[in-house]
Amino acid sequence: MKVIAIGRNYADHAKELNNPLPSEPVFFMKPDTAIVKGNKPFFLPDFSHEIHHEVEIVLKINKVGKNIAGKFAHRYFGEIGIGIDFTARDIQAKCKEKGLPWEIAKAFDNSAPVGEFLPKDQFTDLNDINFRLAINGITVQKGNTSDTIFKFDKLIEYVSKYVTIKLGDLLFTGTPSGVGPVKIGDHLQAYIEDKCLLDFHVR
Ligand code: MG
Repeated sequence: MKVIAIGRNYADHAKELNNPLPSEPVFFMKPDTAIVKGNKPFFLPDFSHEIHHEVEIVLKINKVGKNIAGKFAHRYFGEIGIGIDFTARDIQAKCKEKGLPWEIAKAFDNSAPVGEFLPKDQFTDLNDINFRLAINGITVQKGNTSDTIFKFDKLIEYVSKYVTIKLGDLLFTGTPSGVGPVKIGDHLQAYIEDKCLLDFHVR
């Protein structure tokens, strides 16, 4: 099982990091060792001084697929949840400067906490899902899936051209603006609409 994560899928976030808007989806991967479940604490790694939160809607893949046409993509995920794509922004900046891959800034252990998942059919419109992240009770990131550059179906179509998706894989669909650093003691709570689905502390 793997994590596939989409970069720069919300225009306001691309802008805050001075990135151009992509004409095709940008994706990268995290290994299964990145996944944290059960609201376990996130331990700040010692190799970075700037770990950023990126709250994202996460799709749980429910069957194997390759070269999936956009119109059939909805058949390949059955549940929707929320997660954090923790990013070592200081390391990522160095990688970008040198034109190197982002892996060490993105794929490190425990960099992908995910919360509880909800059945897809609980949502009336996948293109109108409100989500947010609160730190210590204050909302720091807020998004709506209508603001994505590439919709879920397009993401699955694109990714599956290159990578076979499998049962249990997680697709992180990009973060809205408001990313920023976390510190020891922070209490993170991520919501889809009014449901808190992910709730953990930074240690
Ligand atoms: Mg991200």
